[in-house]
Amino acid sequence: MSPQHLNCDILIVGSGPAGLAAARAASRSEQSIVLLDDNPRPGGQIWRQGPGATPSAIVREALQVLEHPRLRYLPGTRVVAGAGANTLLLENTEQALLVRYRSLILCCGARELLLPFPGWTLPGVTGAGALQALLKNGLPVAGERVVIAGSGPLLLASAASARQAGARVEAVVEQAPISALAPFAAGLWRWPAKLGQAAGLATLAYRCNAHVLEALGEQRLEAVRIQQGQQIREIPCERLACGFGLVPNTALASHLGCQLQGNAIAVDRYQGTSLAQVYAAGECTGVGGSELARIEGEIAGLVASGQTRQAVALTHRRAHWQAFADRVRETFALKPQLLRLARPDTLLCRCEDVPYAAVAGKADWNQAKLHSRCGMGACQGRVCATAAQALFGWNPPTPRPPLVPARIETLLMELPTPSMK
Ligand SMILES: Cc1cc2nc3c(=O)[nH]c(=O)nc-3n(C[C@H](O)[C@H](O)[C@H](O)COP(=O)(O)OP(=O)(O)OC[C@H]3O[C@@H](n4cnc5c(N)ncnc54)[C@H](O)[C@@H]3O)c2cc1C
Repeated sequence: MSPQHLNCDILIVGSGPAGLAAARAASRSEQSIVLLDDNPRPGGQIWRQGPGATPSAIVREALQVLEHPRLRYLPGTRVVAGAGANTLLLENTEQALLVRYRSLILCCGARELLLPFPGWTLPGVTGAGALQALLKNGLPVAGERVVIAGSGPLLLASAASARQAGARVEAVVEQAPISALAPFAAGLWRWPAKLGQAAGLATLAYRCNAHVLEALGEQRLEAVRIQQGQQIREIPCERLACGFGLVPNTALASHLGCQLQGNAIAVDRYQGTSLAQVYAAGECTGVGGSELARIEGEIAGLVASGQTRQAVALTHRRAHWQAFADRVRETFALKPQLLRLARPDTLLCRCEDVPYAAVAGKADWNQAKLHSRCGMGACQGRVCATAAQALFGWNPPTPRPPLVPARIETLLMELPTPSMK
């Protein structure tokens, strides 16, 4: 099988709000665009399509760019590796592709931070964003008792979706204290759309200054034990969705050599990364919500396609939504006790059944892997390495190719042969 070769002016990785906005902005120029996503459907996390999702007018408008004659959309396509100057090696179910670009825009989004606690691997326990994704894909929850726990605005969105799907939301368990939430709520008038959204999502089941201690059950989840202030209580439920915030996806950027700032891709005011002609936008540059992702994507698309003057005009709107993202980050900062929920026998790596005690106390992630096999299973550390970074402060090593499992034929064709020196 020989790889298909594609050339384009602008290659965009990720078709979430940021990637679609970048494509739309770039499509106003004469440039050719390739937009790829590892998901089979466009929209990223928030605009995920599926039998349980009805696209809004905003989503339908954003998706229109996929019909543009100078845009080629590659769904279900994964980046395997960088393959020399301005080229990425891709793979989908049918073929390997080598795409050569003039400019690259990374819109890789974020993933959920899942922290280990006793019982978190029981059937019935998922992430809060994961529950959203499952519901949009048609998961039946009608009549089920659901507890949503963790931190951040995503908890309320998940609770609303679960209710809409017929579940009974028993509690929304938010770790942030009222002393942080009250000033946040009082300042929402600066973002009227968010104020309206918050009002629409508000629920009497909301419990602040509370966190999950343990998921209880034999074969599957039966109840959740939570702590609220000094009180501990158990809530019977069939489903627990627990999310402790989001973490930017930076693996591809790191692999290509882009500098990071904290745990996100470092960008300048034009969304440029430390590499020439490589831009980044959306939550891979810092978690900030879909509004910020869209404006960043638009700026990146404009700059990458030579429309810099129009991009500069958008920077004040970006600052407005960046200020909202900063308020969210401060308000929902995790309390230290959430990093101490695991017991010695709680699994940290659920793919390879590695308990917390086998990893805690190691010098770094590499030592932990060498001694325990953690991070070597199906998720390749996407869950446990991210948790270990939060728990122990370990920096993840620079990802090596292949970035995702790939067919042997794809690897044999294009990966650089290691030097024998
Ligand atoms: C699980 C989950 C559920 C969420 N649900 C909601 C919600 O219901 N409501 C809400 O307000 N916010 C939700 N969010 C937050 C929301 O994702 C963001 O606010 C917003 O979508 C960010 O847009 P983005 O374009 O930066 O990234 P995303 O929407 O995450 O889009 C990134 C896209 O890039 C693809 N991708 C990443 N890396 C690669 C690669 N190497 N190769 C190919 N494709 C790649 C991903 O599959 C994804 O489709 C959720 C987040 C997560 C993680």
